[in-house]
Amino acid sequence: MLSQLPARDSLLVLNYHRIGNPDDDLFDPGVFSATAEKFDDQISYLKRQVSLVTLEEALSFVEGNVKDNVRCCRVLLTFDDGYLDNYDIAYPILRSHGAQGVFFLVTSMVGSCHVPWWDHVAYLVKTARRRRFSLRYPAELAIDLDKSGLNESLRLILKLYKRPDNSDSARFIHELAGETQGDDVPGTLRRFLNWDEAREMIRGGMAIGSHTHSHHVLSQLDTNRQFEELSESRAILKKELGVETDALAYPVGGRISFTDQTQKAARDAGYRAAFSFYGGTNRRGQTSPYDVVRVGIDNQSRSRLRAQVSVCRTTGSYWP
Ligand SMILES: [Zn+2]
Repeated sequence: MLSQLPARDSLLVLNYHRIGNPDDDLFDPGVFSATAEKFDDQISYLKRQVSLVTLEEALSFVEGNVKDNVRCCRVLLTFDDGYLDNYDIAYPILRSHGAQGVFFLVTSMVGSCHVPWWDHVAYLVKTARRRRFSLRYPAELAIDLDKSGLNESLRLILKLYKRPDNSDSARFIHELAGETQGDDVPGTLRRFLNWDEAREMIRGGMAIGSHTHSHHVLSQLDTNRQFEELSESRAILKKELGVETDALAYPVGGRISFTDQTQKAARDAGYRAAFSFYGGTNRRGQTSPYDVVRVGIDNQSRSRLRAQVSVCRTTGSYWP
């Protein structure tokens, strides 16, 4: 019924991380957004119901440069972190639908076997030999894996990690490793797409953005280091891919993960826009280009996603 009603003028930015099955590895299940089958089904549905837009079209909308008066629900597809499955699984599916994805790469991780902090935390907890333990930094947290379950325990530990007063991530991981007695992470498994793959994706119609150089939570850094993270990443993307990078996605992207100084640093480093990640939709003339809001795709069911998109298309609002 909702699909018969006129669409509201809006930009809904969907955010994915990994595409695949979280049961297939020991890393963070929370960053698996959809299986390949679900993702393919989602793109088919979105193509029929909304206007899938390119990064350039989305930027024109938030910059107020859309000349036409077309009122429609625009949807932009974005991917954070640049996991290898983005190239192996998401890219061919997007291509088959003629849809563009925007892939935000962490330039220090491109092509690497690096295990980022959220995956490292998950690996330690999934391989933990102790079922009950306590963390003390940056605040007290008692964990009982049998009582709370793996997913809830992981959520609490990652929440502790993301606090702005966690200024020593090595200390956090060291303490967690000691408390859990978990395994060392594997060092020889490539986990991130490489430059050749990124170049191929651009030739295939995809867009690349920056997700900073080292994926530090920017609000935990001083202003100079924030600017370095953003400008260094943009310079590397230019050197490796030969393109000017217009868009940035703040690591983590919550309201406390970036500040006014971060937004200024993004502008000064040459980005036209930056994407956050705390929910909501963007309306014409009402969105700051340095806080373009996004909603996460989080393995929700087919019917839930369809309801969310239908309501957004008609009302301009998205409920999480
Ligand atoms: Zn990220």
